[in-house]
Amino acid sequence: MMNIQHHIGDDTLMAYVNGTLADTISVVVATHLAVCPKCRKNVALMEDIAALYLVESEPAKYVATDPKVPAIQQFDQEASPIDSDKYQTDKGVPSPLADRMQVHLEDIPWKKLVPGISHYPLSVADGNRKNGVLRLLKIAPGTPMPEHSHSGQEVTMILRGSYIDSLGRFQSGDIADLDDQITHQPVADTDKDCICLIATDAPLKFSGFFSRLLQPLVGI
Ligand SMILES: [Zn+2]
Repeated sequence: MMNIQHHIGDDTLMAYVNGTLADTISVVVATHLAVCPKCRKNVALMEDIAALYLVESEPAKYVATDPKVPAIQQFDQEASPIDSDKYQTDKGVPSPLADRMQVHLEDIPWKKLVPGISHYPLSVADGNRKNGVLRLLKIAPGTPMPEHSHSGQEVTMILRGSYIDSLGRFQSGDIADLDDQITHQPVADTDKDCICLIATDAPLKFSGFFSRLLQPLVGI
């Protein structure tokens, strides 16, 4: 049973509903919605508000200026009807994420970045690097992630294990929704690997010694 303590920020949810969120981050949002009734309820409220807005605005203009509408409608169709018991697909993750994985979570061909940290890049619909990066990250027990800040938004969902940083403890299902004001250094804090789904809408900025070691994380 998941005990979700950290949710998606209202600004991020509103951007998801409005179709202005980067595709990479939309995948993380849809994956969290699959397991979080609280955030699904917020989305339903926001969709009602957005529907009112659409009625009052000029339809042709809205479509022409928002190329992301089709992609977001696709996510909505996947996310809306899902309830928590569908968390376990045959790939061990919710369907919005499972659709983008070739193998079960237990069989991921991890690529080592530095000792204790591996990653697995996931393709997204448009594959545009400028729209950021979506990847799985595996952090070994006791391993600190290098301290880093963000040049944009970074949204992380915990899939297995847990980590702790200055913002608190993050466990399975939890979301860390960080903007460019935050520098943090997560540490996997149990005897199990911490596996996260992590999306950015711009490359990370690493500070200090690890920055050279972690070049593979930047601009994948
Ligand atoms: Zn939530």
